Amino acid sequence: MENFQFHNPTKLIFGKGQISSLQKEIPAYGKRILLLYGGGSIKKSGLYDKVIRELKEMDASVVELGGVEPNPRLTTVRKGISLIRENQLDFILAVGGGSVIDCAKAIAAGVPYNGDVWDIVHKKEKVLPSSVPIGTVLTLAATGSEMNGNSVITNWEENAKESFNSIHVYPRFSILDPELTFSVPRDQTVYGIVDIMSHVFEQYFHASSNAPLQERIGEAILHTVIEMAPKLVNDLSNYEYREVMLLNGTLALNGLTAMGVNTDWATHYIEHAVSAVHDIPHGGGLAILFPRWMEHVAATRPEKVAQLGVRVFDLDPAGKTDAQLAAEAIQSLRAFWTSIGAPTNLSDYGIDDKEIELMTQRAMINEKIGKYVPLTNEDVRKILKNSL
Ligand code: NAP
Ligand code: FE
Repeated sequence: MENFQFHNPTKLIFGKGQISSLQKEIPAYGKRILLLYGGGSIKKSGLYDKVIRELKEMDASVVELGGVEPNPRLTTVRKGISLIRENQLDFILAVGGGSVIDCAKAIAAGVPYNGDVWDIVHKKEKVLPSSVPIGTVLTLAATGSEMNGNSVITNWEENAKESFNSIHVYPRFSILDPELTFSVPRDQTVYGIVDIMSHVFEQYFHASSNAPLQERIGEAILHTVIEMAPKLVNDLSNYEYREVMLLNGTLALNGLTAMGVNTDWATHYIEHAVSAVHDIPHGGGLAILFPRWMEHVAATRPEKVAQLGVRVFDLDPAGKTDAQLAAEAIQSLRAFWTSIGAPTNLSDYGIDDKEIELMTQRAMINEKIGKYVPLTNEDVRKILKNSL
């Protein structure tokens, strides 16, 4: 293992009816609130009215910013920063999925910063401890953003989707009520499942030695998701299935399985590049790219893919090489994702080879990306071509 520190300050508030905790949690940070939400799902589901009722009962003054895009945009982040400065707000309440929460984090970091917030995302300018505090009400199991310090923002004008991470933007609290995810449609539910599994993969494929516990925890998450996903996609309002998936999503990316390991993340960089150019759902992109990434790395380092096959997809290793097991593991992953309705090719989104160069260039945030097998420009181009 590598030396590491683990510090996750987010308070998780999990379960039915927990929205009433807002009145207990928010006042410590002030009563002037920016209420941030997406394109309207919370109005349709009735959650918006519930949140407003809670905020009224605590005499909060509320400024709203709705319309946060899936793949949240820099322009919306800038709007949020202006609203907080103009109205001298104390706190951001993000109600939605990963996009709304990521947008809240960038707004939070941008308010005390003296330049343009894109410097923080792109140039990795320091995030200040005086960032605006955030709380979240999560409506979609996917990103883990409810319990981490990551934020992914799209600069649409420059076709750039990039991320930053800071201890200062972890949500102070996150409310996770499985009932609030009942209304997530089947396709978004599937994208969430793919994202959760992909987060485990990104950390499972690490470049460190001696991390058996981290790997076993990752495998446990994968096993649980694989067991639950087919039931959930056929019964979207089942409390037990939603509850299990929600906790899986949070634990897949809250630092638990990244302790002491040098994690990969190449596939996420490539997916962000695809989304930055074509604005497709994050989980949809990952479902297409991850099997191709696995094929690529298995050509030189099949051992971990083989381990995944044996331990997670229950392959029988008797008499097989790692390369054979890796090929079967990738086949099993593909079959599983296809069975729940995930996309398989970039052409499913109407993407052809026209923008391969731009996507390759955008994915290469460093000279090489990825840790399990570092990828060059040429590797990324090949993975994208194989994904068409
Ligand atoms: P999302 O983009 O937040 O939401 C996707 C769609 O689902 C939206 O149209 C949203 O509608 C809808 N939706 C959300 N909750 C709903 C509900 N309860 N009922 C009905 N519809 C609902 O999806 P996400 O997968 O959570 O977030 C994706 C973003 O997070 C991407 O930009 C991705 O790159 C990023 N990401 C972040 C991290 C991280 O660690 N921070 C990790 C992975 C990915 P409304 O807009 O109308 O609400
Ligand atoms: Fe993700």
